[in-house]
Amino acid sequence: MASDFKPADRIQDLQYFGEFGGVNPSISDSSTYTFLAAKSMMDTFEGNTEGCYLYSRHSSPSNLYLGQALAAMEGTESANVTSSGMGAITAALMQICQAGDHIISARTIYGGTYAYFKNFAPKFGMNTSFVDITNLEQVENAINEHTKVIYCESVSNPLLEVADIKSLAKIAKKYDLKLVVDNTFSPLSISPAILGADIVIHSLTKFINGTSDTVAGVICASKEFIDATRNVNDGACMLLGSVMDSLRSASVLKNMRTLHIRMKKHSENAMYLAEKFEQDGIKMIYPGLKSHPQHALFKSLYNPQYGFGGMLAFDAGSLEKADELMELMQKRNLGYLAVSLGFYKTLFNAPGTATSSEIPVEEQEAMGLTNGLIRFSIGLDNDIERTYATMKQCMLDLNILQEKATVQA
Ligand SMILES: *Cc1c(COP(=O)(O)O)cnc(C)c1O
Repeated sequence: MASDFKPADRIQDLQYFGEFGGVNPSISDSSTYTFLAAKSMMDTFEGNTEGCYLYSRHSSPSNLYLGQALAAMEGTESANVTSSGMGAITAALMQICQAGDHIISARTIYGGTYAYFKNFAPKFGMNTSFVDITNLEQVENAINEHTKVIYCESVSNPLLEVADIKSLAKIAKKYDLKLVVDNTFSPLSISPAILGADIVIHSLTKFINGTSDTVAGVICASKEFIDATRNVNDGACMLLGSVMDSLRSASVLKNMRTLHIRMKKHSENAMYLAEKFEQDGIKMIYPGLKSHPQHALFKSLYNPQYGFGGMLAFDAGSLEKADELMELMQKRNLGYLAVSLGFYKTLFNAPGTATSSEIPVEEQEAMGLTNGLIRFSIGLDNDIERTYATMKQCMLDLNILQEKATVQA
Protein backbone atom coordinates (compact mmCIF):
# COMPACT_ATOMS: atom_id res chain seq x y z
CA MET A 1 0.00 0.00 0.00
CA ALA A 2 1.32 3.40 -0.97
CA SER A 3 1.23 6.07 1.69
CA ASP A 4 -1.69 8.50 2.10
CA PHE A 5 0.53 11.11 3.75
CA LYS A 6 -0.06 14.55 2.17
CA PRO A 7 3.20 16.51 2.39
CA ALA A 8 2.26 19.35 0.03
CA ASP A 9 -1.03 19.96 1.86
CA ARG A 10 0.86 20.16 5.12
CA ILE A 11 3.08 22.90 3.65
CA GLN A 12 0.00 24.68 2.24
CA ASP A 13 -1.71 24.60 5.63
CA LEU A 14 1.01 26.63 7.35
CA GLN A 15 0.07 30.29 7.71
CA TYR A 16 2.58 33.11 7.95
CA PHE A 17 2.12 36.81 8.59
CA GLY A 18 5.01 39.23 8.14
CA GLU A 19 5.79 41.87 10.72
CA PHE A 20 3.50 44.34 8.90
CA GLY A 21 0.92 41.80 7.80
CA GLY A 22 2.92 40.82 4.71
CA VAL A 23 1.97 37.52 3.06
CA ASN A 24 5.59 36.46 3.38
CA PRO A 25 7.22 36.46 6.79
CA SER A 26 9.60 39.35 7.37
CA ILE A 27 13.27 38.49 6.90
CA SER A 28 15.32 38.70 10.07
CA ASP A 29 18.26 40.87 9.11
CA SER A 30 20.19 40.55 12.38
CA SER A 31 22.98 38.39 13.68
CA THR A 32 22.24 39.24 17.32
CA TYR A 33 19.16 40.05 19.41
CA THR A 34 18.53 42.35 22.37
CA PHE A 35 17.17 41.28 25.74
CA LEU A 36 15.04 43.58 27.88
CA ALA A 37 16.13 41.78 31.03
CA ALA A 38 19.63 40.51 31.70
CA LYS A 39 18.23 37.37 33.32
CA SER A 40 16.47 36.23 30.14
CA MET A 41 19.82 36.27 28.32
CA MET A 42 21.21 33.89 30.94
CA ASP A 43 18.13 31.65 30.68
CA THR A 44 18.40 31.57 26.89
CA PHE A 45 22.01 30.42 27.12
CA GLU A 46 20.84 27.60 29.33
CA GLY A 47 18.14 26.72 26.81
CA ASN A 48 15.27 27.64 29.11
CA THR A 49 13.47 30.28 27.06
CA GLU A 50 11.06 29.40 24.28
CA GLY A 51 10.74 31.98 21.53
CA CYS A 52 13.74 34.08 22.54
CA TYR A 53 16.45 34.64 19.97
CA LEU A 54 20.04 34.85 21.09
CA TYR A 55 22.37 34.82 18.11
CA SER A 56 21.67 33.77 14.51
CA ARG A 57 24.10 30.83 14.49
CA HIS A 58 21.80 29.35 17.13
CA SER A 59 18.49 30.25 15.45
CA SER A 60 16.81 33.07 13.60
CA PRO A 61 13.14 33.72 12.76
CA SER A 62 13.72 33.19 9.01
CA ASN A 63 15.53 29.90 9.56
CA LEU A 64 12.83 28.70 11.94
CA TYR A 65 10.10 29.46 9.36
CA LEU A 66 11.90 27.44 6.70
CA GLY A 67 12.60 24.65 9.18
CA GLN A 68 8.91 24.58 10.11
CA ALA A 69 7.87 24.14 6.47
CA LEU A 70 10.39 21.33 5.96
CA ALA A 71 9.34 19.57 9.17
CA ALA A 72 5.71 19.80 7.99
CA MET A 73 6.71 18.33 4.65
CA GLU A 74 8.57 15.39 6.22
CA GLY A 75 6.12 14.86 9.08
CA THR A 76 8.77 15.35 11.78
CA GLU A 77 8.37 17.42 14.96
CA SER A 78 11.17 19.80 14.08
CA ALA A 79 13.93 20.67 11.63
CA ASN A 80 17.11 22.71 11.50
CA VAL A 81 18.32 24.30 8.27
CA THR A 82 22.03 24.37 7.45
CA SER A 83 24.25 26.12 4.94
CA SER A 84 24.59 23.00 2.75
CA GLY A 85 23.48 19.40 2.43
CA MET A 86 26.94 18.27 3.58
CA GLY A 87 26.57 20.65 6.54
CA ALA A 88 23.39 18.76 7.50
CA ILE A 89 24.87 15.27 6.96
CA THR A 90 28.13 15.87 8.86
CA ALA A 91 26.41 17.66 11.76
CA ALA A 92 23.73 14.96 12.13
CA LEU A 93 26.31 12.14 12.15
CA MET A 94 28.64 13.94 14.55
CA GLN A 95 25.68 14.66 16.83
CA ILE A 96 24.81 10.96 17.04
CA CYS A 97 28.27 9.37 17.03
CA GLN A 98 31.38 9.59 19.11
CA ALA A 99 34.84 8.02 18.79
CA GLY A 100 34.58 4.24 18.60
CA ASP A 101 31.11 4.23 17.04
CA HIS A 102 30.27 2.35 13.87
CA ILE A 103 28.07 3.37 10.94
CA ILE A 104 26.49 1.10 8.34
CA SER A 105 26.02 2.95 5.06
CA ALA A 106 24.65 2.13 1.65
CA ARG A 107 27.54 1.89 -0.78
CA THR A 108 25.70 3.81 -3.51
CA ILE A 109 25.53 7.26 -1.97
CA TYR A 110 26.43 10.80 -2.90
CA GLY A 111 30.20 11.04 -3.52
CA GLY A 112 30.73 13.73 -0.88
CA THR A 113 28.96 11.67 1.78
CA TYR A 114 31.00 8.62 0.76
CA ALA A 115 34.25 10.60 1.05
CA TYR A 116 33.20 11.90 4.47
CA PHE A 117 32.51 8.38 5.79
CA LYS A 118 35.56 6.85 4.18
CA ASN A 119 38.26 9.51 4.60
CA PHE A 120 37.16 12.09 7.14
CA ALA A 121 35.03 10.52 9.88
CA PRO A 122 37.72 7.88 10.72
CA LYS A 123 39.93 10.76 11.94
CA PHE A 124 37.41 11.04 14.78
CA GLY A 125 37.15 7.30 15.39
CA MET A 126 33.88 6.92 13.47
CA ASN A 127 34.16 3.93 11.13
CA THR A 128 31.81 2.90 8.36
CA SER A 129 30.92 -0.40 6.71
CA PHE A 130 29.53 0.00 3.20
CA VAL A 131 26.83 -2.48 2.24
CA ASP A 132 24.41 -3.24 -0.57
CA ILE A 133 21.40 -1.53 1.03
CA THR A 134 18.94 -3.56 -1.06
CA ASN A 135 20.23 -6.71 0.68
CA LEU A 136 18.66 -6.56 4.17
CA GLU A 137 20.54 -9.64 5.34
CA GLN A 138 23.84 -7.94 4.50
CA VAL A 139 22.71 -4.86 6.45
CA GLU A 140 21.79 -6.91 9.52
CA ASN A 141 25.01 -8.96 9.34
CA ALA A 142 27.10 -5.78 9.34
CA ILE A 143 25.74 -4.68 12.73
CA ASN A 144 28.19 -4.98 15.63
CA GLU A 145 28.17 -3.88 19.27
CA HIS A 146 29.49 -0.41 18.30
CA THR A 147 26.96 0.28 15.54
CA LYS A 148 24.90 3.44 16.06
CA VAL A 149 23.54 4.35 12.64
CA ILE A 150 22.13 2.91 9.44
CA TYR A 151 22.58 5.49 6.68
CA CYS A 152 21.08 5.51 3.19
CA GLU A 153 19.48 7.59 0.47
CA SER A 154 15.80 6.89 -0.31
CA VAL A 155 16.66 6.86 -4.00
CA SER A 156 20.39 6.53 -4.41
CA ASN A 157 22.83 8.63 -6.31
CA PRO A 158 23.54 7.91 -9.13
CA LEU A 159 22.11 4.40 -9.74
CA LEU A 160 18.60 5.13 -8.45
CA GLU A 161 18.49 2.15 -6.10
CA VAL A 162 15.49 2.38 -3.81
CA ALA A 163 15.97 1.71 -0.09
CA ASP A 164 13.36 -0.39 1.70
CA ILE A 165 12.95 2.23 4.43
CA LYS A 166 10.17 0.33 6.24
CA SER A 167 12.29 -2.81 6.65
CA LEU A 168 15.44 -0.84 7.47
CA ALA A 169 13.46 1.00 10.18
CA LYS A 170 12.47 -2.36 11.68
CA ILE A 171 16.11 -3.46 11.78
CA ALA A 172 17.12 -0.12 13.31
CA LYS A 173 14.44 -0.48 16.03
CA LYS A 174 15.44 -4.05 16.80
CA TYR A 175 19.07 -3.07 17.48
CA ASP A 176 18.35 0.40 18.88
CA LEU A 177 20.07 2.22 16.00
CA LYS A 178 19.19 5.48 14.32
CA LEU A 179 18.04 5.25 10.71
CA VAL A 180 19.26 8.35 8.86
CA VAL A 181 17.86 8.86 5.34
CA ASP A 182 19.01 11.39 2.75
CA ASN A 183 15.83 12.19 0.79
CA THR A 184 17.36 14.70 -1.66
CA PHE A 185 16.30 12.77 -4.80
CA SER A 186 12.67 12.26 -3.79
CA PRO A 187 11.14 15.20 -1.92
CA LEU A 188 7.33 14.85 -1.51
CA SER A 189 7.25 11.50 -3.33
CA ILE A 190 8.90 9.60 -0.47
CA SER A 191 8.37 10.52 3.19
CA PRO A 192 11.07 8.56 5.10
CA ALA A 193 10.00 9.64 8.60
CA ILE A 194 6.46 8.43 7.95
CA LEU A 195 7.99 5.09 6.91
CA GLY A 196 9.98 4.86 10.14
CA ALA A 197 13.26 6.80 9.63
CA ASP A 198 14.53 8.70 12.68
CA ILE A 199 16.30 11.50 10.84
CA VAL A 200 15.65 12.83 7.33
CA ILE A 201 18.21 14.97 5.54
CA HIS A 202 17.98 17.04 2.38
CA SER A 203 20.35 18.97 0.24
CA LEU A 204 17.98 21.91 -0.40
CA THR A 205 20.37 22.87 -3.20
CA LYS A 206 18.58 20.46 -5.52
CA PHE A 207 14.81 20.03 -6.13
CA ILE A 208 13.58 21.84 -3.03
CA ASN A 209 15.13 25.20 -3.87
CA GLY A 210 14.99 24.30 -7.56
CA THR A 211 16.71 27.35 -9.06
CA SER A 212 20.38 26.28 -8.86
CA ASP A 213 21.29 29.57 -7.19
CA THR A 214 22.25 28.40 -3.73
CA VAL A 215 23.71 25.64 -1.58
CA ALA A 216 21.61 24.71 1.47
CA GLY A 217 20.53 21.78 3.64
CA VAL A 218 18.24 20.59 6.42
CA ILE A 219 18.00 18.00 9.20
CA CYS A 220 14.40 16.92 9.99
CA ALA A 221 13.91 14.94 13.23
CA SER A 222 12.32 14.88 16.68
CA LYS A 223 12.26 18.09 18.70
CA GLU A 224 14.65 16.44 21.16
CA PHE A 225 17.25 15.71 18.48
CA ILE A 226 16.97 19.09 16.75
CA ASP A 227 17.20 20.96 20.06
CA ALA A 228 20.29 18.89 20.89
CA THR A 229 21.98 19.93 17.62
CA ARG A 230 21.43 23.59 18.61
CA ASN A 231 22.66 23.25 22.18
CA VAL A 232 25.22 25.98 22.94
CA ASN A 233 27.41 23.55 24.91
CA ASP A 234 27.50 20.44 22.72
CA GLY A 235 25.24 20.90 19.70
CA ALA A 236 26.81 19.94 16.34
CA CYS A 237 24.95 22.60 14.31
CA MET A 238 25.72 25.29 16.86
CA LEU A 239 29.39 24.38 17.25
CA LEU A 240 30.36 23.25 13.75
CA GLY A 241 28.68 26.41 12.54
CA SER A 242 27.22 25.57 9.13
CA VAL A 243 24.40 28.07 9.61
CA MET A 244 22.17 29.27 6.79
CA ASP A 245 21.89 32.99 6.13
CA SER A 246 18.43 34.43 6.81
CA LEU A 247 18.14 36.14 3.43
CA ARG A 248 18.79 32.84 1.67
CA SER A 249 16.45 31.02 3.97
CA ALA A 250 13.60 33.38 3.06
CA SER A 251 14.34 32.82 -0.61
CA VAL A 252 14.33 29.01 -0.30
CA LEU A 253 11.00 29.18 1.56
CA LYS A 254 9.43 31.12 -1.33
CA ASN A 255 10.71 28.57 -3.84
CA MET A 256 9.16 25.77 -1.77
CA ARG A 257 5.71 27.18 -2.62
CA THR A 258 5.94 25.62 -6.08
CA LEU A 259 7.74 22.39 -5.15
CA HIS A 260 4.67 20.16 -5.61
CA ILE A 261 3.97 21.52 -9.09
CA ARG A 262 7.61 21.20 -10.09
CA MET A 263 7.98 17.65 -8.75
CA LYS A 264 4.92 16.49 -10.68
CA LYS A 265 6.34 17.97 -13.90
CA HIS A 266 9.86 16.61 -13.33
CA SER A 267 8.35 13.13 -12.76
CA GLU A 268 5.98 13.35 -15.72
CA ASN A 269 8.79 14.39 -18.08
CA ALA A 270 11.25 11.78 -16.77
CA MET A 271 8.62 9.04 -17.04
CA TYR A 272 7.85 10.04 -20.64
CA LEU A 273 11.50 9.92 -21.72
CA ALA A 274 12.21 6.70 -19.81
CA GLU A 275 9.29 4.91 -21.46
CA LYS A 276 10.05 6.21 -24.95
CA PHE A 277 13.75 5.38 -24.90
CA GLU A 278 13.08 1.99 -23.35
CA GLN A 279 10.74 1.27 -26.28
CA ASP A 280 13.55 2.36 -28.57
CA GLY A 281 15.74 -0.34 -27.07
CA ILE A 282 17.90 1.71 -24.69
CA LYS A 283 18.43 0.12 -21.27
CA MET A 284 16.96 2.85 -19.07
CA ILE A 285 17.38 3.14 -15.32
CA TYR A 286 14.24 4.77 -13.90
CA PRO A 287 12.23 3.60 -10.86
CA GLY A 288 8.97 4.28 -12.70
CA LEU A 289 9.70 1.52 -15.22
CA LYS A 290 8.59 -2.06 -14.53
CA SER A 291 12.10 -3.11 -15.58
CA HIS A 292 13.63 -1.31 -12.57
CA PRO A 293 14.53 -3.87 -9.88
CA GLN A 294 12.82 -1.88 -7.11
CA HIS A 295 9.82 -0.62 -9.09
CA ALA A 296 7.34 -2.51 -6.90
CA LEU A 297 9.15 -1.45 -3.75
CA PHE A 298 9.01 2.22 -4.80
CA LYS A 299 5.26 1.85 -5.39
CA SER A 300 4.81 0.40 -1.91
CA LEU A 301 6.55 3.42 -0.35
CA TYR A 302 5.64 6.52 -2.35
CA ASN A 303 3.05 9.29 -2.26
CA PRO A 304 1.65 8.55 -5.76
CA GLN A 305 0.69 12.13 -6.70
CA TYR A 306 4.36 13.08 -7.14
CA GLY A 307 5.45 10.18 -9.30
CA PHE A 308 8.83 8.49 -9.50
CA GLY A 309 10.98 11.60 -9.55
CA GLY A 310 13.00 13.56 -12.05
CA MET A 311 16.21 11.50 -12.08
CA LEU A 312 17.02 8.92 -14.71
CA ALA A 313 20.16 7.27 -16.06
CA PHE A 314 21.35 5.16 -18.94
CA ASP A 315 24.59 3.77 -20.27
CA ALA A 316 25.75 5.35 -23.53
CA GLY A 317 28.17 2.45 -24.08
CA SER A 318 31.49 4.04 -23.17
CA LEU A 319 32.85 7.18 -21.58
CA GLU A 320 33.71 8.55 -25.03
CA LYS A 321 30.14 8.04 -26.29
CA ALA A 322 28.75 9.54 -23.10
CA ASP A 323 30.97 12.62 -23.46
CA GLU A 324 30.06 13.03 -27.14
CA LEU A 325 26.36 12.72 -26.41
CA MET A 326 26.45 15.20 -23.53
CA GLU A 327 28.34 17.76 -25.62
CA LEU A 328 25.91 17.34 -28.50
CA MET A 329 22.86 17.60 -26.25
CA GLN A 330 24.22 20.81 -24.74
CA LYS A 331 24.95 22.20 -28.21
CA ARG A 332 21.35 21.51 -29.24
CA ASN A 333 20.16 23.22 -26.07
CA LEU A 334 18.57 20.18 -24.42
CA GLY A 335 20.18 21.05 -21.13
CA TYR A 336 23.51 21.67 -19.46
CA LEU A 337 26.52 19.43 -18.93
CA ALA A 338 26.67 20.17 -15.23
CA VAL A 339 26.59 18.43 -11.87
CA SER A 340 23.69 18.98 -9.44
CA LEU A 341 19.98 18.45 -10.04
CA GLY A 342 16.49 19.86 -9.69
CA PHE A 343 16.88 22.76 -12.14
CA TYR A 344 14.22 23.90 -14.67
CA LYS A 345 16.57 22.82 -17.47
CA THR A 346 17.79 19.26 -17.79
CA LEU A 347 21.25 18.71 -16.24
CA PHE A 348 23.45 15.77 -17.15
CA ASN A 349 26.85 14.40 -16.25
CA ALA A 350 28.81 11.14 -16.29
CA PRO A 351 28.96 10.35 -12.57
CA GLY A 352 31.82 7.82 -12.80
CA THR A 353 34.21 10.65 -13.55
CA ALA A 354 32.37 13.50 -11.82
CA THR A 355 29.99 13.37 -8.85
CA SER A 356 30.96 9.83 -7.82
CA SER A 357 34.67 10.14 -8.64
CA GLU A 358 35.44 9.95 -4.89
CA ILE A 359 34.42 6.29 -5.07
CA PRO A 360 37.37 4.05 -6.10
CA VAL A 361 37.07 2.44 -9.54
CA GLU A 362 36.89 -1.18 -8.21
CA GLU A 363 34.01 -0.18 -5.94
CA GLN A 364 32.29 1.65 -8.79
CA GLU A 365 32.46 -1.57 -10.81
CA ALA A 366 31.15 -3.68 -7.91
CA MET A 367 28.09 -1.45 -7.60
CA GLY A 368 27.41 -1.37 -11.34
CA LEU A 369 28.50 2.21 -11.91
CA THR A 370 29.85 1.99 -15.45
CA ASN A 371 31.92 4.63 -17.22
CA GLY A 372 29.37 5.26 -19.94
CA LEU A 373 26.58 5.98 -17.46
CA ILE A 374 24.93 9.38 -17.88
CA ARG A 375 22.82 10.71 -15.03
CA PHE A 376 20.01 13.07 -15.97
CA SER A 377 18.03 15.46 -13.84
CA ILE A 378 15.09 15.99 -16.18
CA GLY A 379 13.90 19.59 -16.43
CA LEU A 380 10.50 21.23 -16.53
CA ASP A 381 10.34 21.24 -20.36
CA ASN A 382 6.91 22.38 -21.50
CA ASP A 383 6.90 20.16 -24.60
CA ILE A 384 8.57 16.90 -23.66
CA GLU A 385 7.67 15.27 -27.01
CA ARG A 386 9.77 17.90 -28.75
CA THR A 387 12.59 17.26 -26.26
CA TYR A 388 12.34 13.53 -26.93
CA ALA A 389 12.57 14.03 -30.70
CA THR A 390 15.65 16.25 -30.40
CA MET A 391 17.34 13.94 -27.92
CA LYS A 392 16.64 10.91 -30.07
CA GLN A 393 18.16 12.67 -33.07
CA CYS A 394 21.34 13.25 -31.03
CA MET A 395 21.49 9.53 -30.24
CA LEU A 396 20.90 8.56 -33.86
CA ASP A 397 23.58 10.98 -35.05
CA LEU A 398 26.09 9.37 -32.68
CA ASN A 399 24.98 5.77 -33.42
CA ILE A 400 23.95 5.20 -29.83
CA LEU A 401 20.55 4.37 -31.31
CA GLN A 402 20.29 2.60 -34.65
CA GLU A 403 17.78 3.60 -37.35
CA LYS A 404 16.25 0.11 -37.10
CA ALA A 405 14.92 0.92 -33.68
CA THR A 406 13.18 4.05 -34.94
CA VAL A 407 10.89 2.10 -37.30
CA GLN A 408 8.89 0.54 -34.49
CA ALA A 409 8.74 3.80 -32.47
C1 LIG B 1 24.07 17.31 -3.52
C2 LIG B 1 23.82 16.22 -2.58
C3 LIG B 1 24.31 16.26 -1.26
C4 LIG B 1 25.19 17.39 -0.77
O1 LIG B 1 24.49 18.58 -0.70
P1 LIG B 1 25.18 20.04 -0.81
O2 LIG B 1 24.02 20.96 -0.67
O3 LIG B 1 25.88 20.11 -2.13
O4 LIG B 1 26.15 20.13 0.33
C5 LIG B 1 23.99 15.22 -0.42
N1 LIG B 1 23.24 14.18 -0.83
C6 LIG B 1 22.75 14.10 -2.08
C7 LIG B 1 21.93 12.93 -2.46
C8 LIG B 1 23.03 15.11 -2.99
O5 LIG B 1 22.55 15.01 -4.25
